Amino acid sequence: MQKYVIMGVQGCGKGTQAKLLKDDFDLVHICVGDILRWHIQSHTKLGARIKRLIAEGHLAPDEVVEDLIQDRLAIHDWNFGFILDGFPRNLPQARFFLESYDIDAVIHIAVSDEVVFERVLARRFCGRCKLDYNLIYHRPVNPELCDVCGSKLNIRMDDNEDAIRARLADYRTKTEPALDLFRRKELVIDVDGTLPPNEIQTQIRRLLNLSPCSSVPNAPPVAKEPVSGA
Ligand SMILES: [Zn+2]
Repeated sequence: MQKYVIMGVQGCGKGTQAKLLKDDFDLVHICVGDILRWHIQSHTKLGARIKRLIAEGHLAPDEVVEDLIQDRLAIHDWNFGFILDGFPRNLPQARFFLESYDIDAVIHIAVSDEVVFERVLARRFCGRCKLDYNLIYHRPVNPELCDVCGSKLNIRMDDNEDAIRARLADYRTKTEPALDLFRRKELVIDVDGTLPPNEIQTQIRRLLNLSPCSSVPNAPPVAKEPVSGA
């Protein structure tokens, strides 16, 4: 059983790294952003509330996210373990989590604020076929059009400078104390998020004493991050 939390500012590439681990070790990738996104797209009452908060640059409230995590982990489909992504993102959530669950490690992917701005502002998505693009890493032939269906590409409403700045400030003041708590418990491994994705993956596996990559991953670091700015 391998139970991990993956942490880092939005745009650090943790979605890509979580997927590479998940695929090779049969882990379940529990992405809080995906669960929240489902609520927004399904127009649930919770979704409407979250959508408004995110538009204002806020995060989903603790009790909402803690309930979501508890409900999700109660579905015991993680025979080989899980990677939790987008939770915990503050000290109370981290304390709640450590009281209820035990984990093997926290994977922390470090990138500078400059890199975050550059990566996040380069994101585009196709509203029609839901494909994600990035003008730096996963460039469409025409920067304005979807390669697959030809629709005009969009920018997510929370991928603007003000919202990014608000999320970075949130991360520094709220999420880093959670990371510090894990660090004091000697659970954290640190990797450099500016390396190519396959090198980051190699570092993670070495630090976690996992078997090396079965194949060299060639997936581009598509910056697909939760809407709530993990
Ligand atoms: Zn498309």
